[in-house]
Amino acid sequence: MYRIGIGFDAHKFGEGSSICIGGALIPFNKGLIAHSDGDVLTHALMDAILGALGEGDIGRLFPDSDEKYRGISSLELLREVGNILDAKGFEIVNIDMVFIGEKPKIMKYGEEIVNNYRDILNIGEDRINLKGTTTEGMGFTGREEGLASKVVVLIRRK
Ligand code: MG
Repeated sequence: MYRIGIGFDAHKFGEGSSICIGGALIPFNKGLIAHSDGDVLTHALMDAILGALGEGDIGRLFPDSDEKYRGISSLELLREVGNILDAKGFEIVNIDMVFIGEKPKIMKYGEEIVNNYRDILNIGEDRINLKGTTTEGMGFTGREEGLASKVVVLIRRK
């Protein structure tokens, strides 16, 4: 049995000197405002997996109101989501991801990001794809107010 899930996330820029995307620490002249590390790509990925499982979303699983999640690495949360996927008897067929933003350019960190996800979710290189795009100056990402990501995942019963 196959199931599909979609995830979307956005975070607003604030003060800072780096951002974390897919577990890669990327030097930048701003940071992202968030309860966790503001890793928009990982948040969208987790929501896609949880959506495919019919398990709600990361807000339900890791509530903002819970102090234990303050500043936590989103990769740690992804590991928990991967454990839920495994425990429910599913595996990932493929993941397709779109990172949306003008700056910083993240594709030079693409291999590091994909490898982080492959390690945590235990999947092959051909099962995960990362793309980067801008919105041509339009909207909140175009005005460089923040970053966004969209992810689609297909899972199947093991
Ligand atoms: Mg988020």
